[in-house]
Amino acid sequence: MLRPSPQVDVNSDSSFTVVPSGCAHNCGGRCVLRAWVRGGRIQRITTDARPDDLHDPQLRACVRGRAYLRRLYHPHRLLHPMKRVGERGEGRFARVGWDEAIERVCAAMLRARDEHGPDAFFNMHGTGGASHLAGSQMSARLLNFFGGHLRHHNSYSSAAARWAAPFTLGTDDCGHSPDDWVNSKLILLWGYNPAETVFGTNTAYRLKLARRAGARIVVVDPRLSMTAQALADDWIPLRPGTDSALMDAMAFVMIAEGLHDQAFLDRYCVGFDEAHLPPGAPPGSSYRSYVLGEADGTPKSPAWAARFTQIPADRIEGLAREYAGTRPAALLPGLAFNRRAYGEQPVRGSITLAAMTGNIGLPGGGAGGVSYSVSRQVPVAEFPLGHNPVPVSIPVFLWTDAVTRGRSLGPADGVTGLPPGQPTLRSDIRFIFNTAGNTLINQHANVNRTARILRDPSLVDFIVVLDQFLTPSAKFADILLPATTWFEKNDLCTVWGLGDSVIFMNKAVEPLGECRSDFEICAAIARGLGLGHQYTEGKSELEWLEWMLGPARASDPSFPPFDEFRRRGVHVFQHARPHVPFRDFREDPARTPLRTPSGRIEIYSQRLAELALDQVPPIPVFIPEWEGGPWDPLFAKYPLQAFGRHFQRRTHSIYDNVDWLEEAMPQRLFMNPIDAAARDIEDGDEVRVFNDRGEIRLRVRVTRRIMPGVVDIPQGAWWSPDASGVDRRGNINVLTSERPTPGARGNAQHTLLVQVARA
Ligand code: SF4
Repeated sequence: MLRPSPQVDVNSDSSFTVVPSGCAHNCGGRCVLRAWVRGGRIQRITTDARPDDLHDPQLRACVRGRAYLRRLYHPHRLLHPMKRVGERGEGRFARVGWDEAIERVCAAMLRARDEHGPDAFFNMHGTGGASHLAGSQMSARLLNFFGGHLRHHNSYSSAAARWAAPFTLGTDDCGHSPDDWVNSKLILLWGYNPAETVFGTNTAYRLKLARRAGARIVVVDPRLSMTAQALADDWIPLRPGTDSALMDAMAFVMIAEGLHDQAFLDRYCVGFDEAHLPPGAPPGSSYRSYVLGEADGTPKSPAWAARFTQIPADRIEGLAREYAGTRPAALLPGLAFNRRAYGEQPVRGSITLAAMTGNIGLPGGGAGGVSYSVSRQVPVAEFPLGHNPVPVSIPVFLWTDAVTRGRSLGPADGVTGLPPGQPTLRSDIRFIFNTAGNTLINQHANVNRTARILRDPSLVDFIVVLDQFLTPSAKFADILLPATTWFEKNDLCTVWGLGDSVIFMNKAVEPLGECRSDFEICAAIARGLGLGHQYTEGKSELEWLEWMLGPARASDPSFPPFDEFRRRGVHVFQHARPHVPFRDFREDPARTPLRTPSGRIEIYSQRLAELALDQVPPIPVFIPEWEGGPWDPLFAKYPLQAFGRHFQRRTHSIYDNVDWLEEAMPQRLFMNPIDAAARDIEDGDEVRVFNDRGEIRLRVRVTRRIMPGVVDIPQGAWWSPDASGVDRRGNINVLTSERPTPGARGNAQHTLLVQVARA
């Protein structure tokens, strides 16, 4: 056990130096942390102390950031470079000096480039260091100067959403800024849980303000999330993966009762009805025809949807009437349904509902699709990555396939950038750089399969890991390099999506042990390869940070001088009015058309029709999921749907080893009393959770806050297999499938069936 922190009264002791810093884990938030330093050691961490203002609210840290002391001084911090001495994945290492570690990495890189070429290098997706001078961007620049590396596109967060939304809207930039939510009369949070996941600092606070201003909030979610508990007027539990059935039935009610905004659809949309199909679309292929069952003989009525969704028909009717009859209304989807088997469908379906209710481009409304804005970003430059001479890119979720059968992966697998005459990848992945990420094993689907692949010495030749802990991914390193936390270096961070601020993260203490920053480590490897000056351009970390702030200084006269900004720690950029995407299009669609082929909202996408992808039709439809409900043959064997929500105690897998957070929120399987009683399971029992891919064990929390037939296993627990391969910490990815979504080839890790039994 860790020793408790010393009790200090920080308000009355002037012997402390208070260093402004921040937290930049990839929860979507970026928050202020203040380090109280005495004797070269941080004694306590507090959060934003600036005056709290409605228009400039504090950027207050959540429990994770406030518990950072336990992470920073954790007894298991990696403090020295190490080389693998056991089998790969076994986790046995021997300490080496930095010189030897760098030499080994350089030698392996040169060997791999000689034998396989630059296409064999892969910079693993990782978001653990989501500040501006940390994480996988550091290794991307190194690999680019070294000759390039296999690219990847998509993410583990929003692959299907970002792929699908542009077919309908010409962009994935669908989100209103949260200061617009006070203009809404109804907010429909669809699989959206910012009270726990954060999704941008102050998201839940903005929803609270909207509610205070009179908005009704309805949450659609299989579980009574904290967001639903704290903010919702109504909670509608939905069987996971049936979002599109609910959307179709809502559309049915609107059409049947004449509640939809036909004028909006006529003016701005393509393909809602037969009269507005694009040239070449076959008769009967409009969304209206599909919903009314004119095309397939099955009207998508509330009674039809009730069978799939488990929502009574009258509640579906009520929801449809309320959404259609309240304006402006914001349908805000989270990312939950985009990580499912057919994640592309509800993304396009939610946009269709927003169009049917005339809420697109309307203050207080919402376009559905992807509910955060990517266009309203703060004016801070990114660390330049240099040019990657390898043009080929894989969907990131298929990286294990690029290891096992890379030379057969081509456009049908979502590979892009293939030069003329090159039908597939030139090489399998042979060298992996894993910087600040746990996707190498823990966060990727089907952990047991991934482990088999990584252990196979005939596949990946060398794995370099930069991390702060011996995570499950770090155990697969050949060379393990100890990285600093942000309290041990200078950095800055900007809020993603909907934020407007930049935070300077001042170095508060000297690096622990022999830790170095990601930048310093990659610069040292670059020097070992003769690329040192190219990598750093002669700039120190601090000079790079000052350079990144150039656009902020240029665009905002109130932006302070560098040293003053470091002292203040935060700058908030002001905007004249809320960001409302598609406002210009709504005002004048001829002058400001969308970037779709027709310039309009394409409920029927001609581009999708031409692509003719299996399971991705030109209109959004409901497709019963594989490993879904009772319609799936596997349901007889594994009758519970499982999903892994984002847990308040972790940011993905970060913080899983922090004792304070574990004590407050232990890893549990959440199960409805009906399912528990059927299995003779009581609250607190240890249970086995299993399917054909593996087994995990953890304790159960029996609660009515999750609907029957569904279990929740919060994602991010560190994979901890025992001698027989059973995971003892509750990592849901032992059970998830590597099968991708059909369009984006993105992860569908929320789609899986399991059985649960008392251990
Ligand atoms: S984990 Fe996210 S919400 Fe929590 S303090 Fe860090 S950035 Fe803020």
